[in-house]
Amino acid sequence: QDKSYLMIPGPTPVPPTVVAAMTAPMIGHRSEDFQVLHKDIITKLQKIFQTQNEIYILTSSGTGGMESAVANTVSPGDKVLTLVGGKFGERWSELTKQYGAEVIEVNFEWGTCVDPQVVQEKLAANPDIKVVFATQNETSTGVTNDIESIGKIVAQTSALFVVDGVSGVGGIEIKVDEWHVDILTTGSQKSLMLPPGLAIQSISDKAWKVIEANKSPRYYFNLLKARKQYPKWNTAYTPAVSLFVGLNASLDMMLAEGLDNVYARHKLLREATRAAIRALGLKLMADESYASPVITSVYAPEGIGADDIRKVLNNEYNITFAGGQAKLKNKIFRIAHMGFADQMNVLIAISGLEMALQKVGYPVELGAGVRAAQQVFLGV
Ligand code: PMP
Repeated sequence: QDKSYLMIPGPTPVPPTVVAAMTAPMIGHRSEDFQVLHKDIITKLQKIFQTQNEIYILTSSGTGGMESAVANTVSPGDKVLTLVGGKFGERWSELTKQYGAEVIEVNFEWGTCVDPQVVQEKLAANPDIKVVFATQNETSTGVTNDIESIGKIVAQTSALFVVDGVSGVGGIEIKVDEWHVDILTTGSQKSLMLPPGLAIQSISDKAWKVIEANKSPRYYFNLLKARKQYPKWNTAYTPAVSLFVGLNASLDMMLAEGLDNVYARHKLLREATRAAIRALGLKLMADESYASPVITSVYAPEGIGADDIRKVLNNEYNITFAGGQAKLKNKIFRIAHMGFADQMNVLIAISGLEMALQKVGYPVELGAGVRAAQQVFLGV
């Protein structure tokens, strides 16, 4: 349908300005126009990543960026530490095992955050750990991890710190240099307000030394090949030119809004969504102290399938929430408020949710959730 309300954690709605930018005629990827565009984009990305490091834009989904991070830093037999509190943390374990790593996996209950103290203990007990893998925003549970604290701990060791920022970067602040993130890897289709197709990653000097000595097979994702082209603002292979043009436009939108305002907007959307859920008597998955600014996970009421609620929302109101993944299937629904999201998106989502709850047999006081959200927005 033309009129729909997409509130899943990617792909997210793309602003009309960005869509329009991407209809520009194709340009050659070895042309000066492309090089100027590429350089411009990297300068803007460095502001969002808060880094002086080189940033590489790969044509792939977010997982491709994660694979690039692993293929370039993990040699067979290396000991690595993966911090797992959901489906995307698990992906680090799966990927590193594929590349022959000896994986120390630390599990945190789904819906809770990584405890930096545990990272400290594991690193102290295993000084031969080569790389620590974490997730900035665990999309499957709606939890944001304390990357700053973990980064400061890892920085005291020789291990690299690699962070999956696929769903968070652009909606949640991250300071790559100050927090000692050696590789931050993200994707285009979430908080960055673009269609799927780009993975973006920054690489520190500490990481380059490991990448140079790395022994894993890699071809398309060989960052050393990409690095040869970098000074000329070229890419090793044909880039997704239209997505680069779109990225430039979405970065301009974010910088025009002001990054502090972008991050404050997401936090406000989180507060309003959570207030609404509480007012409806539903249970939130993530605790206040680490709840994600870009996605809210909610338990379905006792005896009602989360997917039944989602079905009504979809069929009757064209509102799409995400469901639970893996062991959370049918138990939770997830409301994304990332990227091109504003107060009215939240009010529409909550108002639809109230009607859907009524229809599946969980009577609510109509308007209670909407009112709670409005009160947060108005500060009353
Ligand atoms: N990491 C996180 C935190 C994600 O949210 C996602 C996408 N949901 C991915 C990785 C994988 O990205 P993609 O589906 O683009 O490969």
